[in-house]
Amino acid sequence: MTDLRTPTTTPPRPGQLTFAAPRRGKPPRHLADLTPAERREAVESLGHKGFRARQLSTHYFERLVDDPKDMTDLPKGVRDDLVRDLLPTMLTPIVQRTADDGETVKSAWRLHDGALVESVLMRYPNRVTMCISSQAGCGMNCPFCATGQAGLTRNLSTAEIVEQVVYAARSLRRGELPGGGDHEREAPLRVSNVVFMGMGEALANYRAAIGAIRRLIDPTPDGLGMSARGITMSTVGLVPAIDRLAAEGMPVTLALSLHAPDDELRNELVPINTRWSVDEAIDAAYRYFGATKRRVSIEYALIRDINDQAWRSDLLGRKLNARGRGWVHVNPIPLNPTPGSKWTASIPGVEQQFVERLRAAGIPTTIRDTRGQDIDGACGQLAAATA
Ligand code: SAH
Repeated sequence: MTDLRTPTTTPPRPGQLTFAAPRRGKPPRHLADLTPAERREAVESLGHKGFRARQLSTHYFERLVDDPKDMTDLPKGVRDDLVRDLLPTMLTPIVQRTADDGETVKSAWRLHDGALVESVLMRYPNRVTMCISSQAGCGMNCPFCATGQAGLTRNLSTAEIVEQVVYAARSLRRGELPGGGDHEREAPLRVSNVVFMGMGEALANYRAAIGAIRRLIDPTPDGLGMSARGITMSTVGLVPAIDRLAAEGMPVTLALSLHAPDDELRNELVPINTRWSVDEAIDAAYRYFGATKRRVSIEYALIRDINDQAWRSDLLGRKLNARGRGWVHVNPIPLNPTPGSKWTASIPGVEQQFVERLRAAGIPTTIRDTRGQDIDGACGQLAAATA
């Protein structure tokens, strides 16, 4: 295996948290970093008419054009200026691997400074989900997650996050996603769901992540025109950032990576728990539900003999019910194997029991489908290493 991670990133010590992203050369400015008003200003400061900003946005967000030659409504000189200044290359694809009969596609991208990130496109019968990265690496150091073990290289810019989705949207529009008789389809597939479950803790890169969500949900041509409901923000439980997100007025779904209902174990599995405890994280999730009316997901990777005991299932049920009913559902997922980790997934009978006990407590619980395990593309396996 060739490890392409940038050598400047040192793996964290056990339990060590990294919030401040190392500073590296800034990614180039891109249209997707800017609000519509800022785009206008940028275009005018290049000496062009303000309305060109909207034309450029239409090409980028609505028509998904990637070849400037197709921007025929922009005179050549204008087009060259605008493309050079506002549509620089943010991501260079380096490898793509497919699994699940072509319905799961993992892409690795190189960023302008050589940092690497990955994203995973997953096609389901009636939706297409794009799992995106918000940081190169991650500073949260969860011991069962390959990304966490690699440490934090840097934050992504808004455009670097958005481009992952735009790339996917383009390849879907061209019918490039392999698998499943595309030629019989009348309308091309669209990215219906985006989950911040790739590399990184998006809420630790708050401004860029919020900017990206705005670009995704703003109607075309200002943004991609996705539904906020199709977007899931997943977090280790950065409580102040959850409250901030709740106040943004964007009804995205919140997923809280809990993984244990008690502080003793969660301190080990999700080191941020030493800052914000299980109860504080669940309270924040409940406030998020109160503010947005969006049902919150609790993520729980089932790890054999570590967090899968019946008493932990019962304790989780009690803690969730203590806040109220109907505000939450639980998404257990069998642990995906990662290099260097001694842990493995719960055995199926134990998994089933864990689920049944939660359901008996009245909590909707569904085992999360796991995709792309054989291409190291499943939850927790993204480490930007290529085989
Ligand atoms: N930083 C965000 C996104 C991480 S990835 C967060 O922590 O929520 C999305 C989910 O995959 C998280 O719930 C994470 O805990 C989980 N995950 C990480 N490693 C995993 C593994 N090896 N098996 C299963 N799920 C894992």
